[in-house]
Amino acid sequence: MTLTFASLGLQPTLLNTLNELDYDDPTPIQAQAIPLALSGKDILGQAQTGTGKTAAFTLPVLHQMSGYALQTLILAPTRELAIQVSQAVYQYSKGMDLKVLPVYGGTAYDRQIRRIKKGVQVIVGTPGRTLDLINKGILRLDDIRYVILDEADEMLRLGFIEDVESILSSVPKTNRQTLLFSATFSNPVLRLAQNYMQDPVHVEIEAEQVTADNIDQHYFVVRNADKVEALSRLLETETYQNVLVFTRTKVGSAELAQTLIDRGYPAVAIHGDLAQNERERILRGFRDGKLNVLVATDVVGRGVDLSDITHVINYDVPQLPIDYVHRIGRTGRAGRAGTAMTFITGKEHYRIKKIESFIETKISKAKLPTGEDVQTARDTRMRAKLVAHIDKVVQDGTDDFELIDSLLADGYDAEQIVSGMMAMLRAESNDYPIGEIRDVHQRSGETRREKRKRKRKSNNREKYDDANMVRLVMSVGKSSGVRPGDVVRSIASTAQIPGSSIGAIKIQRHKTFVDVPQTHVQAVLTKAKTAHVRGERAHVQRA
Ligand code: AMP
Repeated sequence: MTLTFASLGLQPTLLNTLNELDYDDPTPIQAQAIPLALSGKDILGQAQTGTGKTAAFTLPVLHQMSGYALQTLILAPTRELAIQVSQAVYQYSKGMDLKVLPVYGGTAYDRQIRRIKKGVQVIVGTPGRTLDLINKGILRLDDIRYVILDEADEMLRLGFIEDVESILSSVPKTNRQTLLFSATFSNPVLRLAQNYMQDPVHVEIEAEQVTADNIDQHYFVVRNADKVEALSRLLETETYQNVLVFTRTKVGSAELAQTLIDRGYPAVAIHGDLAQNERERILRGFRDGKLNVLVATDVVGRGVDLSDITHVINYDVPQLPIDYVHRIGRTGRAGRAGTAMTFITGKEHYRIKKIESFIETKISKAKLPTGEDVQTARDTRMRAKLVAHIDKVVQDGTDDFELIDSLLADGYDAEQIVSGMMAMLRAESNDYPIGEIRDVHQRSGETRREKRKRKRKSNNREKYDDANMVRLVMSVGKSSGVRPGDVVRSIASTAQIPGSSIGAIKIQRHKTFVDVPQTHVQAVLTKAKTAHVRGERAHVQRA
């Protein structure tokens, strides 16, 4: 049975929050530390960042807190970590009416003092500034019941030992619970524990090997809506043997596998609910080379033993840095080279940062293949296939002499015949139409002026109401891979009307309906009578 947050004994408000944050199950350090901390024990926790240690100490403390006094003091070695931990506490305490404040040096005291005077229940501070505020009589420690030392080894390494000891001796001893987390337990850390903690229980999770030198690691910034297209492009352009694609949810993995199958890729999803024999059948297909793209979630990905995985693609970036390590460890086995690619949305840069600091390696940002790259890769594959056939007929001869002779006799030359055959091949190929991917940075790099302009433009759009619109029809549709953006671009540029004036667009298989304001119809029908959409000529007329 897998442990749940509820079975660890956390209260409903916290469970709700964790649910909202999409935390499915406790991580190993959480599963060990939370029940012990809830039973009031002092804890010596050995865990690296990226293992979920912040929640491991924050959740049980939040569960036990009540009232408005300053009750919890968290010490962290750096300003960055103090801010990060206070953000985590803030996030986990949603709905609990708690105030948390980070305090650190290098900034003015006023604001911090004002906030403390207004009332806070949790302080997350660097040792130096925290001690200053205590000495100034601003931080009152009488009601402190929970003290947490985060990354204790790092605090000592940075020379904060005396500050930390002064702080710990100023906090009341009775009724105090002390939690100390550290990646390593050197003697000074253990001495600190011995002097300032009550019979601490030691919990630890195995330190993981996090090096992956022979794995090429990249990430791509891509909107959620464009991920399928992005993945398809990688599958078209990368040279791979087997690919393991990780999604965050089980449902997501099944849906993604189906979408890939619909696009013609040999994909399959594997998840925990499958019967054992079904799972084995899938894995056999994978080993035999009949299926090359396996879509999985973390839980399953960890359990399956597959060699020859050349690529791991994180379709959804893992929440836990340690899971990133587990995932990419599936490739680059036995000293072979491997590639790990990770999709992040524009808001997920911080996740890459966390992973990078966990693995102590930079993950390079890469550009997705363009539509042209995909076409080139397809052409190269087609050429290779063709050459193989040509070589074979050169060697074995052909039975098609009569057909070839009759074509030549009709006056077609070799180039024309080959061109016709190529067109036939292309028409019959099952290649999925290449779609578009919107540049994520288009918006984020926007200046204020550009933003105002964009807003004004979208307001303008509302001025064209339905009554003044005329419906036109174009002779291209889904079968040519047409997307709304193509239609707008094509009509707006050819007829020289504002793109924002174009109304509803309905794309069918072989045709597309588009609404244009009455005032612009004439311009469109004269200038854009034949427009170019996705490289095809389209006729435009009244619907
Ligand atoms: P930490 O080791 O505390 O720095 O946490 C690393 C990351 O894991 C943070 O971004 C957390 O939001 C995330 N995290 C912590 N616990 C869980 C969990 N049980 N499930 C999913 N993500 C988690």
